[in-house]
Amino acid sequence: EELVRGDAIASGMCITLHNDVVLPYFLNLATESQKRRWLPGMASGELMSAIAMTEPGAGSDLAGIKTPAIRDGDHYVVNGSKTFITNGINAELIVTAVKTNPHERHSGISLLVIEEGMEGFSRGRNLSKIGLHAQDTAELFFDDVQVPVENLLGEEGQGFIHLMENLPQERLGLAVGSIAHAQVAFEWTLEYIKEREAFERPIGSFQAIKHAMAEMRTELDIGQVYVDAQIMAHCRRELSAEDAAKAKWWVTDLEGRVIDRCLQMFGSWGYMEEYPIARAYRDSRVSRIYGGTNEIMKEIIGRSLGL
Ligand SMILES: Cc1cc2nc3c(=O)[nH]c(=O)nc-3n(C[C@H](O)[C@H](O)[C@H](O)COP(=O)(O)OP(=O)(O)OC[C@H]3O[C@@H](n4cnc5c(N)ncnc54)[C@H](O)[C@@H]3O)c2cc1C
Repeated sequence: EELVRGDAIASGMCITLHNDVVLPYFLNLATESQKRRWLPGMASGELMSAIAMTEPGAGSDLAGIKTPAIRDGDHYVVNGSKTFITNGINAELIVTAVKTNPHERHSGISLLVIEEGMEGFSRGRNLSKIGLHAQDTAELFFDDVQVPVENLLGEEGQGFIHLMENLPQERLGLAVGSIAHAQVAFEWTLEYIKEREAFERPIGSFQAIKHAMAEMRTELDIGQVYVDAQIMAHCRRELSAEDAAKAKWWVTDLEGRVIDRCLQMFGSWGYMEEYPIARAYRDSRVSRIYGGTNEIMKEIIGRSLGL
């Protein structure tokens, strides 16, 4: 919330991905010796982290990833590529979803920690995005990378389950950032419409604008209450996959709606880069796509209804 308010949504994402998304995998799954090896550097920031699930050919269908990691003595030999990886340029430790059994879907997946400097591991371009320009998103390539078995995180063949256990926190984190983004955009707009005049009065006094603001204020209050309730559930270790999915899709949709309506109230000034609402518009579009698309969130909720 504070990173968003401090206008550091993109650079802040590098930190929240490291702290709130990747670190839990290490805390929950690492052995004592893995913790001793990696946690001090992760805490100091010397070892930045990333999580690489998505491949050029598979995103929503996580069980459809290909990257094989074939056991050969005390190593896995990894080949393939990942894409759209946050912190992909800067990370030293990459939790990578691989197929230790390429013939299986869910039960073939394992998590390997691939480290900077491993022979055969290279990074591609820092991808050019429509928003979040202060944050790196990259392709990763694996060419016969020999990853020691000591770098297996969690159990072999349990990678899909490990991911499912950790993704609700990631999705709740996205909802927290998205509602904060929408709240701050609303505040900028409220200030602007009180000052900006047309037809010899502040534009905020026009009923069309006043009612739009009233609708947004109501939706933001309702959204915030839901997000806060899920944070409390998470603190009690009771956050369910479907409630995290509800928060993620509804709040990121709300973020998109609010920022779009707010930009309209700035008129052409809202389309100019010098106004933060313009950047908010570009930066917010991805919220409905990453962390699992909003369509996939509805699949999760639908499944919880027995459908
Ligand atoms: C800036 C950014 C950062 C990212 N960071 C990371 C990262 O750190 N790590 C990582 O692993 N990935 C990351 N991603 C990747 C992102 O999570 C995936 O791209 C996303 O999950 C969607 O996968 P896809 O692009 O393959 O889309 P596809 O799976 O090809 O989906 C295309 C469209 O089809 C829809 N669709 C697919 N299946 C269904 C279905 N069953 N029902 C209805 N609709 C469906 C989708 O909702 C979507 O609209 C990032 C992406 C971006 C843009």
